[in-house]
Amino acid sequence: MKRRPLLAGNWKMHTTVIDACQLAAAIGKCSAGLADRDVLLAPPYTVLSEVAHVLQGSDVLIASQNVCWEAEGAFTGEISPTMIKSAGGTAAIIGHSERRQIFHEDHAIINKRVLGALAFGLIPVFCVGETLEEREGEKTFEILEEQLREGLAGVSLQDMGKTVVAYEPVWAIGTGKTASKEQAQEAHAFIRKLLAEMFEKNIADTVRILYGGSVKPDNVDELMAQTDIDGALVGGAALDADSFCRIINFI
Ligand code: PGA
Repeated sequence: MKRRPLLAGNWKMHTTVIDACQLAAAIGKCSAGLADRDVLLAPPYTVLSEVAHVLQGSDVLIASQNVCWEAEGAFTGEISPTMIKSAGGTAAIIGHSERRQIFHEDHAIINKRVLGALAFGLIPVFCVGETLEEREGEKTFEILEEQLREGLAGVSLQDMGKTVVAYEPVWAIGTGKTASKEQAQEAHAFIRKLLAEMFEKNIADTVRILYGGSVKPDNVDELMAQTDIDGALVGGAALDADSFCRIINFI
């Protein structure tokens, strides 16, 4: 089954307003006219609307790096789906390993974020992935299954069809160590098989599963050539316009 590739850049806690506008403009330029793939940027909240403004009229999608489940209220430090949408966003990264590990976001809170995003019409880019210790302890599939079952609990079939999953082995994030194409494909195939069990095979066949973890211009082609890898979630290399443009233009 052919799925439309999605190349996503996660800027994490980087960029001032000026940096963000320059980077967005450069990415807007090099992604113009690419009719066979989607490009998504996840800037910090502080520059989300500026980036959306710079990219107005382009096909580049904008995501937030997290999202709350309520439209508004007393949730100091949180940002609602309605706010993201009003700033020009259409998607939200949820369950990134940095949220899970540094900020101790658990399955229950991540699940609330996923359901909240969907309830307000934002596309979740739902992240899963094992640590090095878990991989070495041969617990990778067990961990992925727990993250997927808990994080996607209560998601309807229709909403699952809109959701994007990102497999990001924690040991490959920001370390320069990419999972081999075989390791990545194995995890992606496992995720798709599990989604077929949890939802339906035809839904699982349409869900885009992105690989994340030290994706660079020189490894994107071999990763994208794998059957179950439908895109990339890029951190470090997404902050450099030239590198990200080369990633977007993978063969
Ligand atoms: P990286 O980050 O590309 O810098 O490894 C990926 C991510 O955390 O999404």
